[in-house]
Amino acid sequence: MPLMTLRDVLEPAVPQRYAVGSFNVTNHDFVEGVLAAAEETGTPVILSVAEVHFRYLDLGRFVPYLKQRIAQSPVPVVLHLDHGTKKETLVKAIHWGFSSVMFDGSTLEWDDNIAQTRELADLAHMAGVSIEAELGHVAGGEGDFEGGSEVDTGRYTDPEQAAEFVHLTGVDALAVAVGTVHGPYRQTPELDLPRLAAIRQNTTVPLVLHGGSGLTEADFQAAIARGINKVNFYTENALLAVEAVKEALAAGRPMTYPDLTAVGRGAITANTKRQIAVFGTQPM
Ligand SMILES: [Zn+2]
Repeated sequence: MPLMTLRDVLEPAVPQRYAVGSFNVTNHDFVEGVLAAAEETGTPVILSVAEVHFRYLDLGRFVPYLKQRIAQSPVPVVLHLDHGTKKETLVKAIHWGFSSVMFDGSTLEWDDNIAQTRELADLAHMAGVSIEAELGHVAGGEGDFEGGSEVDTGRYTDPEQAAEFVHLTGVDALAVAVGTVHGPYRQTPELDLPRLAAIRQNTTVPLVLHGGSGLTEADFQAAIARGINKVNFYTENALLAVEAVKEALAAGRPMTYPDLTAVGRGAITANTKRQIAVFGTQPM
């Protein structure tokens, strides 16, 4: 199928109250593992490449492969830049052919976040690319695996500001801070569901939950019922693949490197399929 934008895959998700998973990929095995899950379930999927993961990749080689692979896929796929913090990164992603970008100005002051997001939203839309932005701040980084992160309750998204932000910037999706963190959690996450419901009431754009790994099925369902339409998911897949490889090695059978990568990939597919079911993602 041709590349889809966030708008394409999230538009039906809003009235039908389901979410589409946005799964970060860092190499070929990750891509094939996630796409196998989407293809086996016949559901749309968002493949995300995070700016913090550029260190694992040669984008100039990786993106042409992604685009070719997506074109061959029978399911709708969005190629999304996750957490672009610099204008150069977004321009580069648009130039390479991403169909969707995220600008993360969540550490900026209100006026600055609006001005920069607005400029990049105009730029993305001129190129036919959709854009997600973040208001409030989801703590932690996709790369922070030591010790985990604590929720920054002082920087939750304000429901009134969310409406104003969407109106002033023209973004296609909004990432909100309602109790999740990136990477592993230091304490059991507790979502601020009334806040999420209030944000949903004030805005019509699809809402995005970052830091999906570590939430329970009930957490996801409660969040989706209150208006989350895109869930970012990475850490659990990244860690489960390692567990599966360790188990395979401990079983003591002679294995080659391709056998091991296939085990990791299989674990990613199985877990991604589980998440797709939890998110209630519907075929388009
Ligand atoms: Zn994130």
